[in-house]
Amino acid sequence: MPTPFFEMDSRLNDLAEQVRVEMAPVFSRVEEIADYNQQKVLSAFIRHRVSEAHFVPTTGYGYGDRGREVLEEVFADVLGAEDALVRHSILCGTHAITVALFGVLRPGDVLLAATGAPYDTLLGVIGADKPSDGSLAEYGVEYREVPLNREGLPNLEGICEALRADPAIKVVHIQRSRGYNLRPSLTVARIGEIVEAVRSVRSDVIVFVDNCYGEFAEREEPTAVGVDLMAGSLIKNPGGGIAENGGYICGRRDLVEKCAYRLTTPGLGKEVGASLGHNRTMFMGLFQAPHVVGEAMKTAVFAAALFEKLGYRCTPTAIEERADIIQAIQMCEAKPLIAFCQGIQSGAPVDAFVTPEPWDMPGYDNQVIMAAGAFTMGSSIELSADAPLREPFAVYMQGGLNFSSGRIGVLLAAQKMLDAGVLSNL
Ligand SMILES: *Cc1c(COP(=O)(O)O)cnc(C)c1O
Repeated sequence: MPTPFFEMDSRLNDLAEQVRVEMAPVFSRVEEIADYNQQKVLSAFIRHRVSEAHFVPTTGYGYGDRGREVLEEVFADVLGAEDALVRHSILCGTHAITVALFGVLRPGDVLLAATGAPYDTLLGVIGADKPSDGSLAEYGVEYREVPLNREGLPNLEGICEALRADPAIKVVHIQRSRGYNLRPSLTVARIGEIVEAVRSVRSDVIVFVDNCYGEFAEREEPTAVGVDLMAGSLIKNPGGGIAENGGYICGRRDLVEKCAYRLTTPGLGKEVGASLGHNRTMFMGLFQAPHVVGEAMKTAVFAAALFEKLGYRCTPTAIEERADIIQAIQMCEAKPLIAFCQGIQSGAPVDAFVTPEPWDMPGYDNQVIMAAGAFTMGSSIELSADAPLREPFAVYMQGGLNFSSGRIGVLLAAQKMLDAGVLSNL
């Protein structure tokens, strides 16, 4: 594929061409998953008789918002759940997970993180190691953690032991995606192994999955292996790059109801919440999501294959099975990492002229650099890259609304590194 509208070193273009040929079987695997999930979504839209009337905005209380109800039925169906809460008033992924945890945990209960420390933004929500106002800890919910083993995989023995040791454990938390960590993301099959281990000790414990970045990356979702409840963000995978904000919680009906009572009020639950005209974009985003996730995964495969050829360590590797849309590339030093992010930014459809710089972001111990030129602020289903400036100087890249532009973004990142004289092996 030539790049007539961009100035690219011919050696990079040659490598890109090699990648295209060599990765054809990997791309076709991604396309098969996207095709399967697209059929799943399309058939759900048809079965639930999605209609123009469901796009009509409601205001005020939003009682009887048929569009909102059908949207939630379709989401539940697609994600293999009994019921779902899908709201623009769930403000982000952290909010969705917070509502889910507060929804099902009560004072005296214990939350067990089965896959090590959860994503950064949840530490304040839990409040065990990071005291904060309004945390679960303040409401008398205790916290335990089973770290991942040395390979970054779940410690099944350790999880069983923790469950045996503490009958007050009510919820087991599993994080599907690596987050900003070099551990492997968990496949649905691996999550199934955790569920099986948990059930072998306690059948009544609630298994919760932070599903952020995982939706449609595989044929099935964690609900298929017995997960009770899961949550995610609509400015990641399931919003398809179209939803303007929002989040979802789905799973067992009784648990989703508890979450609805937490999100709105006891008694009102799911019945209230005007959609204000967001239904159309949420329906359309869900419809687009399997395809867009496939494009983001092809962009990730392309980046891994290209940067492996350039001598960098990539996690996952280009040919490895993927459980989410995140690609980590170890840059080993600050300079190439910064150049990479600036290159990604220079290929964005929005704000390409901006140069990202590392800065002291609140809540982080190291400087952080972020590249994002997105139609939706902070959307990471759109091509984006970020990195804390610390060993091993790994950059985390994700998204890409379409592979043609995602590929250009990745090539421009390599070109920027070449221009800065920090690209090895070329
Ligand atoms: C993004 C993410 C979150 C939090 O989502 P926000 O929308 O940023 O609040 C939680 N967990 C994981 C694994 C994530 O990737």
